[in-house]
Amino acid sequence: MNEKETKIWNAIKDIPDPEIPVITIEELGVLRKVEEKPSGEIIIYITPTYSGCPAMKRFEDDITQTLKEKGLDENVHIETVYDPAWTTDWITDEAKKKLEKYGIAPPAQKSYDKAAILGKEPTVRCPRCKSTNTELISQFGSTACKALYKCNDCLEPFEYFKCL
Ligand SMILES: [Zn+2]
Repeated sequence: MNEKETKIWNAIKDIPDPEIPVITIEELGVLRKVEEKPSGEIIIYITPTYSGCPAMKRFEDDITQTLKEKGLDENVHIETVYDPAWTTDWITDEAKKKLEKYGIAPPAQKSYDKAAILGKEPTVRCPRCKSTNTELISQFGSTACKALYKCNDCLEPFEYFKCL
């Protein structure tokens, strides 16, 4: 990235996820690229997480707002990229640890996705007591991106960030 691109990237990378404030859009993998066109125009490329996730509009608004506040919004545009599609694999390991600390079970390994296709439930670890003796309560938690689980050891309900 050139100096201008780096400046924009650094200005917005720490914007938190609207739903999970401990994770930034950079860690989430939503912020893909910042590119300066030969015309001088700056394009910010973002990839939506779960399709239809209401957070996506917020990402754009928050980016626009942050750039405005920092006086960097001139000639900057946001473009949404759908290909390649976002996957939970883009969430950094650091961010997965933060998720767990926050009380949300991070997405399980990719291999579990295959198990899910075969109709098997992933092994989800309780973010509080780390027990894997958990059960699915509901496919949908507070948002469609998360499922609701219950820990059979500490008996606490918790949310699981679903794999994609
Ligand atoms: Zn537990």
